[in-house]
Amino acid sequence: MLEPAYQADVVIVGAGVAGLSAAHRLTSQGVTVAVLEAAPCVGGRMSTEKVDGFRLDRIGQLLSTAYPELRLAPGLDGLVLRPFAPGVLLHGDGRHHRVDAPAGARSARGALHAVRALASAPRGMPGPRLVAASRRAASRRATFRVLPGQGTASRAARATAPLGGAVDQARLGAALTRYSTVPVERLLARPELPAGQALAARGLPARTIDGFLRPLLAALLCDPALTTSSRCADLALRAFAGGRLCVPEGGAETLPELLAQTLPAGTVHTGVRVTSVATTSVTTAEHGEIRCRAVLLATDARAAAELLPGLRVPDFHPVTVVHHTTEEPPRTGTALLLDADRGGPVAHTAVISEVDPSRAPSGRALISSTVLGTPPADLETAVRTHLARLYGIPTHRWETLAVHHTPEAVPAMPAPHDLRRTVRLLAGLYVCGDHRDTSTVQGALHSAHRAATAILKDLGASGSMHRADPTPTAQAA
Ligand SMILES: Cc1cc2nc3c(=O)[nH]c(=O)nc-3n(C[C@H](O)[C@H](O)[C@H](O)COP(=O)(O)OP(=O)(O)OC[C@H]3O[C@@H](n4cnc5c(N)ncnc54)[C@H](O)[C@@H]3O)c2cc1C
Repeated sequence: MLEPAYQADVVIVGAGVAGLSAAHRLTSQGVTVAVLEAAPCVGGRMSTEKVDGFRLDRIGQLLSTAYPELRLAPGLDGLVLRPFAPGVLLHGDGRHHRVDAPAGARSARGALHAVRALASAPRGMPGPRLVAASRRAASRRATFRVLPGQGTASRAARATAPLGGAVDQARLGAALTRYSTVPVERLLARPELPAGQALAARGLPARTIDGFLRPLLAALLCDPALTTSSRCADLALRAFAGGRLCVPEGGAETLPELLAQTLPAGTVHTGVRVTSVATTSVTTAEHGEIRCRAVLLATDARAAAELLPGLRVPDFHPVTVVHHTTEEPPRTGTALLLDADRGGPVAHTAVISEVDPSRAPSGRALISSTVLGTPPADLETAVRTHLARLYGIPTHRWETLAVHHTPEAVPAMPAPHDLRRTVRLLAGLYVCGDHRDTSTVQGALHSAHRAATAILKDLGASGSMHRADPTPTAQAA
């Protein structure tokens, strides 16, 4: 329980990754912080359900080792990232094609981070082996490669030419190399269009666009119609070309839990719903008014607008994640499999227990699949049928573990999109979260970075600030 008179320099509303990361940046400068979270646990959208030894994410998480904030955000030193196989595996025209980033595209920093994160994996985990794979990948040319041994689909594939001709491949390789090397400022100076339109104007063959870039961008942006701003799409492609797609070991929640655990004891208070905010106090449903010197609103966009009615509520992309288990998994290894044909509801799928073995009990495979947009009425049947086609094996015996539907999963970012929406509303009142930046974990963390910087500047913070009095009796989550 919180003491009603508890005071702190800064009250942060919401213990998602944005609020928790901002708390780190503030407490490390001697600022006292109370993070108030309405839910019984931290993490917000990055939650992980535990069922019979499985760890099931609500979100079909695709992080990138090239997200700068995963390196810069304090409190994430212990984070272990589990990488997918380099590039992606595409299912198109009944075949599997491996598409990888071009030689040298992955930046040394991105690769280094992957190495660091993987090297910190507990003993017995295949860290060094994956590191080696990462280095090999960095020296490979962009390729469309057909994987062997996937039933009739791949037998047909071996007999026919890979997706796109040599010129097509060279163009794609050159495009990805450009993305990974062009400075961000230059990407952001390009004319801003809906991503789908911008792709058509980039001089790439329709087959390359439809067969690779569209499904990849839809997965990265959670936007099947590609109405997202081309600038956000360019940033997503840049991160893809310069890093490795990965998931946090143990499930999405490990990232916010790590942040919460490494904050000073007593900073995070769960089960506390904020009902109103001002520049020097917040009111809570459970503990009345809590006074402070500044308030940082770190909720999702809709909750932020309920507390501050002037704030914009964006449209959202709905996302559904379906988790299956089987004893005999498909043989796609650690690949992220995308459907280039859009022949069913699944946008991307992976045998996630191959990528991160901690997510399934021994002897069972966990297959996690993501459906973008409004799901069909016969979701379970449609997904199962589609997965059978994508993996080239029967799925009727697969057991459905969970179906997580989030109607307001990701704030839409149509053109024109303000990538740096203001985080300082007034002296004393600040806002952060993915809706102030890009709708990603990187965006949430970066908005927190900007908000904490603004607060520290306004408070003139350096060294020790206010001492909380009386000491709160709430427990850290
Ligand atoms: C299905 C899905 C798929 C996604 N896929 C990806 C992906 O592939 N890659 C990627 O980078 N990102 C992805 N995202 C987005 C990513 O998860 C979010 O951008 C990020 O988690 C947002 O963090 P946040 O801290 O801004 O907000 P949130 O996680 O929403 O945290 C806000 C917190 O505020 C709390 N709160 C709200 N109101 C109050 C109140 N009145 N009082 C107290 N507390 C309150 C909430 O309970 C919540 O804990 C996905 C999201 C979803 C849902």
